[in-house]
Amino acid sequence: MAPSGNLIIVSGPSGSGKSVLAASVLKMVPGLTFSVSHTTRAPRGNERDGVEYYFVDKTRFEELIQKGEFLEWAEVYGNYYGTRRSFIDERLARGDDVLVDVDVQGARTIRQRRPEAISIFIMPPSYQVLRERLERRRLDKEYVIEQRLRIACEEIKHYRDYDFLIVNEDLEDSIDKLRAIIIGSHCRMRSRADHAKSIMATFGGMDGKDS
Ligand code: 5GP
Repeated sequence: MAPSGNLIIVSGPSGSGKSVLAASVLKMVPGLTFSVSHTTRAPRGNERDGVEYYFVDKTRFEELIQKGEFLEWAEVYGNYYGTRRSFIDERLARGDDVLVDVDVQGARTIRQRRPEAISIFIMPPSYQVLRERLERRRLDKEYVIEQRLRIACEEIKHYRDYDFLIVNEDLEDSIDKLRAIIIGSHCRMRSRADHAKSIMATFGGMDGKDS
């Protein structure tokens, strides 16, 4: 059977620290790749096309929706975001793990379509800490911060839908946890089935028998 990596969904409100966490584990875990989404929002700061996102206009995005290219797509903060099916499937087929950073709507759709995916919710330690983090970043205007906080209040209600919860209080500790979940997922029975079968063959092909 062809190798297949794990699909890892990471969600959490803006300011939960999920992007920093994701970037850190992507550097640490061999064979882990980032799912580069398509978006209609404009690049921010040093963002490059094809690295953080594929930046496309609305017409192109809608064309991709029509063609059924997205595993999921959603409107977030007034812009479209979508995960292209071929992007992740090519990497999973190579045996890579693929980390997707999506909002709660995207996570729900991916879980429905790919029930084998592992989902992780990143939670800030409190509302107050989230507010402070958003204000400290100085990335957004006051009204945008208020909007992000309002959306966070809605998003956070969905934490129970995820397999794992990381409360991001201490960055190093959260990185350790995320890394452990991803590496631990390689030991899931579905990921190890082929390897186990080849070992069982050395035991005289007893696989599937009770004794
Ligand atoms: P930002 O614009 O700050 O990079 O991302 C805004 C939100 O969009 C974040 O919550 C992020 O997880 C979410 N997002 C990024 N890519 C996708 C995607 O492909 N699909 C969905 N549903 N959400 C996404």
